[in-house]
Amino acid sequence: MNSDTPLLEILTSDAADRYRVVVGGAVDRTAERLAGVVSPTTDTPAAVLRDRVAGVDLDRPLGSADAALAEVDDLFTAEAVWFHDPGYLAHLNCPVAVPAVAAEAVLAVVNPSVDTWDQSRIGTEIERRVVRWAAETVGFPTGDGIFTSGGTQSNLHALLLARQAATSDGRTATPDGRTAAADGPAVASTRRVPVLDDLVVLATASSHFSVRKSAMLLGLPERAVVDVATDAAGRMRPDALAHAIADVRREGRTPMAVVATAGTTDRGCIDPLEPIADVCDLEDVWLHVDAAYGCGLLVSPTRRGLLDGIERARTVTADFHKSFFQPVSSSALLVRDPADLGLAAWHADYLNPEDADEPNQVDKSLQTTRRFDALKLWTTLRASGADAIGRAFDTVLDVTERVHDHVAGHADLELVAPTQLSTVLFRWQPEGVSEAEADALVAPIRAALLAEGRVLVAKTVVDGRPCNKLTLLNPSTSAEQVVSALDHVVATAERLHAARATHTTSTTGATR
Ligand SMILES: *Cc1c(COP(=O)(O)O)cnc(C)c1O
Repeated sequence: MNSDTPLLEILTSDAADRYRVVVGGAVDRTAERLAGVVSPTTDTPAAVLRDRVAGVDLDRPLGSADAALAEVDDLFTAEAVWFHDPGYLAHLNCPVAVPAVAAEAVLAVVNPSVDTWDQSRIGTEIERRVVRWAAETVGFPTGDGIFTSGGTQSNLHALLLARQAATSDGRTATPDGRTAAADGPAVASTRRVPVLDDLVVLATASSHFSVRKSAMLLGLPERAVVDVATDAAGRMRPDALAHAIADVRREGRTPMAVVATAGTTDRGCIDPLEPIADVCDLEDVWLHVDAAYGCGLLVSPTRRGLLDGIERARTVTADFHKSFFQPVSSSALLVRDPADLGLAAWHADYLNPEDADEPNQVDKSLQTTRRFDALKLWTTLRASGADAIGRAFDTVLDVTERVHDHVAGHADLELVAPTQLSTVLFRWQPEGVSEAEADALVAPIRAALLAEGRVLVAKTVVDGRPCNKLTLLNPSTSAEQVVSALDHVVATAERLHAARATHTTSTTGATR
């Protein structure tokens, strides 16, 4: 090491002024970028971005935080994908609440880990309070839960609890028969690993892929996830669920869990929760509701009824980083019965021994070191309240209704499916263009738009046919702005179609 090798700057109390300068500088640069955003991303070609990153020599430091952050600004921020731009219509990414962003900045400095009391103290209390608030909002008056990294982890966690319950004696008792209290010590499973081959998870083909991935991670065979039939809108049919459970039992297999989706990722439709809960109660099967997308309805002033029955679930996934306008990551697994979290508890002598007398969160989590994401939602609730979040989500859904009407009435666009939330599934399909031609344009439309960077849309497959998809999640985007983005999509489709026609004609001509 030579003498001019830069030293690592560590954030200590003595460095408070350096913190102000370095972070202040980064905030200023980023604020300037934010103010100058005019499109969701740029048209810089992917190969150029790759080369720029590859061209940075990570073994030759720039020598100062300021230089490194100036490079970040130029390299990353200038080329970022901005979810708040009205042209961003691709995936389930929301623009974020200002108080939450500020809370994130506080978190970055304190850098707490909410696994044990001695690493977070009041942070533990705050997370518990936010979780209790969320559980009560679901309709779990004595419920509990835990913040997770996202819906994928929340779903995995829920299905892990369901698997543990299905393979243990008592419904709420931990595997050795003792009942775990919410705050008290829970016990680890020492029971023999059951035959996982016979466990079944019932969901629909529209359920999130993390359900299948979780089944794989939990050691269940591929046949474990059974697709329950849906109605024309893609919602689980309760009668089909009852039949599927009967079939599973007839085959000698065990229904481990039913996963109902409250807002499917593509169609934005909500499985009928009340009648599904009726079936689950009757059959004594664990009901998990994946409300990763639809959780914003919990605080909606006009559409809360769409989630009626969610309070009868045993576990619920809520992604605050989708419809609660929180920064990534911010998700929770919520449980109706606090004891259920004990089904997956594990103890380490150094961290959370069984006789621990301090409250800890690590007993309830799949993670050990864990971000204090709850502070972001806490700060948002304290700044403007749940009602403001619900009204913002409501605005998004109102705009979506208008966009649906627009697409349905558009001569050259086909509305592929209705929604209960904020997706718009559509296809460019003018008269005279065959289905095959329209299908073939779905991917090129998305790719051409992405290369240009002005309007970003997604693509998916619905009922076996490809289509394009908008996901609205920005309460400050108007229906007019979305309509004008759609105009650009149509113009792009026309251009691509014309180019293909010319290409076909010229190649046909050449072969003649
Ligand atoms: C987004 C989503 C998930 C996955 O959540 P992540 O936060 O991306 O891990 C799960 N289920 C549904 C219905 C989703 O829309």
